Amino acid sequence: MRARALLVAALLLVTAACSGGKVSPGDSVVVRAQDGNQLTIGIRFDQPGLALRTVDGRFVGFDVDVAKFVAGELGVDPAHITWHETTSATRETDLTSGAVDLIVATYSITDKRKQVVSFAGPYFETGQDLLVRLTSPDITGPETLNTRRLCSVTGSTPAQQVRDRFAQAVQLVEYPRYPDCVTALLAGQIDAVTTDAVILAGYVAQNPELLKVVGKPFSTERYGVGLRKGDTQGQAAIAKAIQKMISGGAWKDSLNRNIGPSGYPIPAPPRVTEQ
Ligand code: GLU
Repeated sequence: MRARALLVAALLLVTAACSGGKVSPGDSVVVRAQDGNQLTIGIRFDQPGLALRTVDGRFVGFDVDVAKFVAGELGVDPAHITWHETTSATRETDLTSGAVDLIVATYSITDKRKQVVSFAGPYFETGQDLLVRLTSPDITGPETLNTRRLCSVTGSTPAQQVRDRFAQAVQLVEYPRYPDCVTALLAGQIDAVTTDAVILAGYVAQNPELLKVVGKPFSTERYGVGLRKGDTQGQAAIAKAIQKMISGGAWKDSLNRNIGPSGYPIPAPPRVTEQ
């Protein structure tokens, strides 16, 4: 009896020694960041002003700055961030599979997504709008899209919104990435692109002589940092970091630098509610 108890105690000690100091995937992102001094963050590679991979392999944009600021506050040097390309449709699975620690990718906070992931934020607010060719003055809002071809991205809230509200009236064409929609628009294969106005402004800045944003937002999109569902410690730490980025001025500086040149008006900072 005594020998058995001793054996159990010894086994418990060995188990504790093996796991001592090691982080597990179930730990908060706060613990994982501190332990490894590294984070894998899901961002877009193709959204000018927000998150863009440059030809020399750097990442620039407001979402990139938010990701770096948050990582810094979690104790991770931005040089130790591994950038992972995520798309509208893969953000939830990138988080649930453990492929990334965080998502900072024009990721609207929605009740549906909150069933699968958690959010900290919002760190920015915008609204869904339409991108059209300058030669289409008759497209003035979603109600003028009857029978026209409208492009959006699979897994995005704008595509869902169009399907729910305008499905009978428009022909929705979906692609995995926004630049595919923009190319199709420039080629005349579709009539309009819909997504958040701040994203569309970045594409107009690349082709101001051909494209424009209609300028009548018809939804509210609140961008949050996505993290694994139920990581309340991580959520609180990231919300605090966002608050600090806003109050310390880095938020405004980044927006002026990255979004300002597109002409998109910089809004007031949002109230951080997911914390
Ligand atoms: N903010 C919207 C969303 O989260 C559209 C932008 C995007 O596709 O990332 O779906």
